[in-house]
Amino acid sequence: MHADFQTDLLAWYDRHAADLPWRSTRDSYRIWLSEVMLQQTQVETVKPYYARFLAAFPTVQDLAAAPLADVLKLWEGLGYYSRARHLHQTAQTVARDYGGQFPPTADELQTLPGIGRYTAGAIASIAFGQRVPVLDGNVIRVFARLTDLDADVTLPATKDRLWVQAEAWLPPARAGDYNQALMELGRVICRPRHPLCRDCPVQQYCRAFANGTQHQRPVKAKKAPTPHYDVSAGIIWNEHGQLLIAQRPPEGLLGGLWEFPGGKRENGETLPECLKRELREELAIEVEVGDLFMVVRHGFTHFRITLHAFTCRYVRGEPQRLGVHDFAWVLPDDLRRYSFGKADREVIKALEARGRMLL
Ligand code: SF4
Repeated sequence: MHADFQTDLLAWYDRHAADLPWRSTRDSYRIWLSEVMLQQTQVETVKPYYARFLAAFPTVQDLAAAPLADVLKLWEGLGYYSRARHLHQTAQTVARDYGGQFPPTADELQTLPGIGRYTAGAIASIAFGQRVPVLDGNVIRVFARLTDLDADVTLPATKDRLWVQAEAWLPPARAGDYNQALMELGRVICRPRHPLCRDCPVQQYCRAFANGTQHQRPVKAKKAPTPHYDVSAGIIWNEHGQLLIAQRPPEGLLGGLWEFPGGKRENGETLPECLKRELREELAIEVEVGDLFMVVRHGFTHFRITLHAFTCRYVRGEPQRLGVHDFAWVLPDDLRRYSFGKADREVIKALEARGRMLL
């Protein structure tokens, strides 16, 4: 069964593979870049970022030599910023320790920052033709349906089984194309909500289709409700018409990005009280909290926030780097030179719109 399945899947891929910019190359730098960008991000979103990155950093050495701030700026809007930091670290390691060439095996690739088992398998099979599997969300869904798997795919033990299966089903050759075919099948045919079973090239091997259970696969345990936090942020003006912005510590959520300073509200605090406390704790400054400027709702992987941005007047205290990596007083026109997360960019957009209205 496996051989026929592999043949049919590869034949479909040969006829229907989408023409994606990273598919026309076997260059490990380009494959790696595309795979890191595609983690958690849709193909259409990645395309312009991929093109801009290659224009700015045509080789891994160019990326390694670039300041991290430039990398983060180019990454702005793509989300999951630890990917950008790891990208930069990996480029430096490859340039320094591997003479600018990515190591060809999945095991060695996995020692590099930001490269897990999936990404290592993708690079090793696509760029280097190694016979190693991949298992991402698309492949998990395809396998769970093909085998009509009724186990919870969010459990590590089930994932382990799926890795074993992914390895056992690899064809003797063309592992890279086969892996891409599986992922593409999951993306365009065996879609999460509305699988196009009638157009599916491997329908005859699919147990879920035969049993009519494709809509119940994969089985996933219900997630706990996503936590929510209220966050206060200050749009703090000084008497020179400058705004105070702060840079987050390099590690952790949105690491290295800039923001309007503030933080999470604690139990029993009002939003302005929270803001005053955060500014004391993180920057040692006192402000007068004015009007609520805007509210932005934003979702991260494991929680959601409501950002309440207040207009503030700087009162006293020389800013200090207590809980921030850096700070800067900047004119509104210069904000765009810094990298911000999505919620803060909404605030900047509103500030710019307000500025235009005042002109
Ligand atoms: Fe997915 Fe349907 Fe194809 Fe089965 S037949 S692999 S459920 S698209």
